[in-house]
Amino acid sequence: MNNNDIYDVVIIGSGPSGLAAAIYAQRAKLNTITIEKQYMSGGQVLNTYEVDNYPGLPEINGFDMGQKFRQHAEKLGAKFIKDEVLELNIMDKIKKVHCKNNEFLTKTVIIATGAQHRLLEVKGEQELYGKGVSYCATCDGAFYKEKTVAVVGGGDVALEDAIFLSRLCKKVYLIHRRDEFRGVKILQEKVFSIDNIEVIWDTVVDEICGENEVTSINVSNVKTKDNKTLDVDGVFVAIGIIPNSHIFEKHLKLDEANYIIANEDCKTSVDGVFVAGDVRTKALRQIVTAVSDGANAITSIEKYLATKF
Ligand code: NAP
Repeated sequence: MNNNDIYDVVIIGSGPSGLAAAIYAQRAKLNTITIEKQYMSGGQVLNTYEVDNYPGLPEINGFDMGQKFRQHAEKLGAKFIKDEVLELNIMDKIKKVHCKNNEFLTKTVIIATGAQHRLLEVKGEQELYGKGVSYCATCDGAFYKEKTVAVVGGGDVALEDAIFLSRLCKKVYLIHRRDEFRGVKILQEKVFSIDNIEVIWDTVVDEICGENEVTSINVSNVKTKDNKTLDVDGVFVAIGIIPNSHIFEKHLKLDEANYIIANEDCKTSVDGVFVAGDVRTKALRQIVTAVSDGANAITSIEKYLATKF
């Protein structure tokens, strides 16, 4: 690979949004390279036990889905390089992407670095991930029909998850570390009106228990210090997500939660720099919306290249 080439597009990240962008870029005949930090593509989807809400691919596991996206991009001739982006020089018309082992010159950049769920960091969380521990009620709720689950958190997502799960599950414990919710009043009122949601205040999860699947959680009250065990089939952790935006924060406009600000056209505050997927400001973070961003970003880039170069 000749690093003196000036690419049309450098895509940073190879989750669903980056791979969709790679596919659209190949079809648009743009000279593109995708930089991936990890050898295996797929982003957060890789760790999803079963994806059952992507049209046309029912019951597929996240790993297979990531591979399918990747193979599709490769079949169209997409080029990938394993490296880690350290720094960007994006204020000029030709941009420089500095990685650990390479440096790339490019007319446009797509940031598709995704986000990660904040972890509870308790015993059993990692071991039982995908076996009862989930970070996405919309994705995994359907596996808990008529079962008992716990939702952890007190923000909008935890409240929405509890409401959503209450329609499927026999019982939902909503466990929050304080005695008032952070989430909006209208969601709070809804939660309080639902019979099969039991709110447990001032309480933290100390351990998620089970051999091959979640069977219970140990919780403690932060005020009284009382401990108890709750029998549950699943734990939905909804304590916030962290966008992977830190290396871009000095160049781009971010919102108060550190998401890179852009509309559906994926244009950031800097000309020629685009953002796609979970790291972008948006209402719904799902594989299907990430993929949509990848397509929109390339469409915006085609227009940008036609007018600026
Ligand atoms: P969030 O608003 O940051 O809430 C995170 C919740 O998790 C807080 O209640 C927090 O407790 C709790 N928490 C954080 N770390 C914890 C830990 N280590 N252990 C236990 N609990 C912990 O996050 P979010 O609910 O994911 O929402 C993210 C953003 O999206 C928010 O700005 C939200 O308003 C927005 N959103 C909007 C909508 C909507 O408009 N319909 C829907 C969903 C999300 P404390 O309260 O004690 O800090």
